[in-house]
Amino acid sequence: MPRHGLEGFDCVTPLSGAPLQWTLVKVTVLVGGVGGARMLLGVRELLGRTPFPAPSDGAPGEGESDHSVTAIVNVGDDAWMHGVRICPDLDTCMYTLGGGIDEERAWGRRNETWHAKEELAAYGADPDWFGLGDRDLATHLIRTQMLEAGYRLTDVTAALCRRWAPGVALRPVSDERHETHVVITPPGSDAQRAIHFQEWWVRYRAQVPTTGFAQVGDKDAHLTPEAAAAIDEADVILFAPSNPVVSIGAILSVNGMRAALRTASAPIVGISPVIDNKPLRGMADECLSVIGVPTTAEAIAAHYGARCAAGLLDGWLIADGDSAEVEGIAIGTAPLLMTDPRTTAQMVRDACALVGVDTPELS
Ligand code: GDP
Ligand code: CA
Repeated sequence: MPRHGLEGFDCVTPLSGAPLQWTLVKVTVLVGGVGGARMLLGVRELLGRTPFPAPSDGAPGEGESDHSVTAIVNVGDDAWMHGVRICPDLDTCMYTLGGGIDEERAWGRRNETWHAKEELAAYGADPDWFGLGDRDLATHLIRTQMLEAGYRLTDVTAALCRRWAPGVALRPVSDERHETHVVITPPGSDAQRAIHFQEWWVRYRAQVPTTGFAQVGDKDAHLTPEAAAAIDEADVILFAPSNPVVSIGAILSVNGMRAALRTASAPIVGISPVIDNKPLRGMADECLSVIGVPTTAEAIAAHYGARCAAGLLDGWLIADGDSAEVEGIAIGTAPLLMTDPRTTAQMVRDACALVGVDTPELS
C-alpha cells in the first residue's frame, strides 16, 4: 500500500463502491520514561499498533496499523549496576506498552519481588539504594548478555520487544553510552563532585546542592541510523511532556539530534509537562531550576526555542487555562492530563492539528 505525506491521500475503493479517503501518518515521538510512556499509550490508541519488531515480510498483521509510530527514547538514565546494564526509560516504555508495568509505582515490573536486592544488601554490595527487582533483573541479564556479545542497544531493544509487543517502534536515541551525570556538593562536604543521575534522583531525591548536568560516556555518542530515519521520514514529530532537562534535554544533547530535527521536513510540536506552573509528577522543577528555567509552560517553550529562530519547535500545546507566548511558535491549548489512553489520544490529535496534521477521528 502506498504511503503518503501530509498533503497526500489515497483513494481506495472499498467493496461498497464508495471512495474512501485517508492519509497515512508517520509519527515520531521523543520520550523519557513515565510521561513518555503514557503519551505513547495515547498515540497507539489514536493510530493503532505499529508492528515492532517489524515482520520480515514487512506486511502489517491482523489488528496492526498502516500508520507508524516510532519513539526515540532517552538513554541518559542508563547505568551499569551490579554488573548489568539498566535502561530505565526504555524499560518503562516497553513494560507500559506491553502491559507488564507496575501501575502504582509507574516503573518496574508488576508482581515484583526483591530477593536479589536483599541478598546483595546482605553482602553489603553497592549501590544499596537502587530498586533492582527480580523480574526486572531478567530483562537486564538478557540485555547485558546481548550487549556483551556485540549487539547494538537498538537490536537488543527490538529483541526484548518480541516478548512485549509494544505496538510502537522503540528506538534508543543512541547505541553508545551517553549518561546524564549531575554536579553536586555532597552533604557534609565543600568539594563538588559528579554523580550518576540515578544516584541524584533515587538516592538524594534531587535534594542536594546541585550546580549542573553533564553527559558522560562515548565522546562520539551519535544518533542511531534508525532514529535519524524516523526523524527524516516523519510526517509529524512530537516532544512528549517528558522532563525537559533530563529526558528531552538528554536526547537533544546526542550528536546529530538537533541538526536532524532542525532540518526535518515534518513540523515539530511539543506538549507541556507542566500544568498551572507545576509538573505532574517527578521532579522536573528541580531539574529546571538547576539550568535556570522557570517551571512554566512559556519558559519551557522558550527554552526549546522556535525553529524559525535557531530553536526546535513549530508548535507548543499547553494546558487549558495556562498561557504562553513565544515568537515563532504556534501555541494551542487542550486538556493535558493523561488520565487514560483515550483522553491522551485526543491530546495527541490536538497536538497534530496545531500544525495542520490530520489524524483519524476517535470513534
Ligand atoms: P521519567 O523519565 O520517568 O521521569 O518520565 P518522563 O521524563 O517521560 O516524564 C516526566 C514528566 O511527565 C514530568 O515532568 C511530568 O510533569 C510529566 N507528566 C506526567 N504525567 C503527565 C500528564 O498527565 N500530563 C502532562 N502534560 N505531563 C505529565
Ligand atoms: Ca527517566
